[in-house]
Amino acid sequence: MIRKLTLFLGAVVVAGTSLFVATDADAYVLLTPNRKWYQTPVLLEFNSLAPETSITDGDYGRTAIADAIFDSVNGWNGAGSGQLIDATIVPRNAVQGDGRPTIQFNDPRNYCTGACLAVTLTGYWHNRNGTEEIDDADIYFSEDTRFTTEREDPNPNRCSWQEFYIEGVIQHEVGHLLGLDHSNNAQATMYYAVGMCDDTMDELASDDQNGINALY
Ligand SMILES: [Zn+2]
Repeated sequence: MIRKLTLFLGAVVVAGTSLFVATDADAYVLLTPNRKWYQTPVLLEFNSLAPETSITDGDYGRTAIADAIFDSVNGWNGAGSGQLIDATIVPRNAVQGDGRPTIQFNDPRNYCTGACLAVTLTGYWHNRNGTEEIDDADIYFSEDTRFTTEREDPNPNRCSWQEFYIEGVIQHEVGHLLGLDHSNNAQATMYYAVGMCDDTMDELASDDQNGINALY
């Protein structure tokens, strides 16, 4: 079973809309129009007290999610373009367009339904002297999905039917937040979909690193 990691642009859900070169060496895709944060590191906020109730690792994923977010920050910062992002714990919900990128582990407005695992709202940007600057990007996780963590299931063989590792989904959505679209490379974190019990998506591929280095 494969489920999608959906990119939400304005009011339209799409999966890879811009031009790409379909080779493994150069398969990354930037958001269209290309855009990035100009004040870096951007500060990503998340509420460490909000439970992801589908995770049954003893604390509803709170520890694993915090670890995954900081691992994701370290991963993208280690891709070669310097320190692009930090994360901090703040007990608040996402507010679209407020300039404070936020991860939310529920989806009260139902942005992410059906096969969607999580969405990043990438529609907040403006033109700055001829280039496009990201103003905000919030991430919402599906409420219908059963997530697991590497803390709950260190061995993917122990992962239950129809569970998805949240670490890789976090890594993927943070890539959208920074300005990447879906890669054509199935090995990439930025590939549009992931299989259940697949714990490999949180490891950035060279394709992901090439994408972020092309942008920043
Ligand atoms: Zn995606």
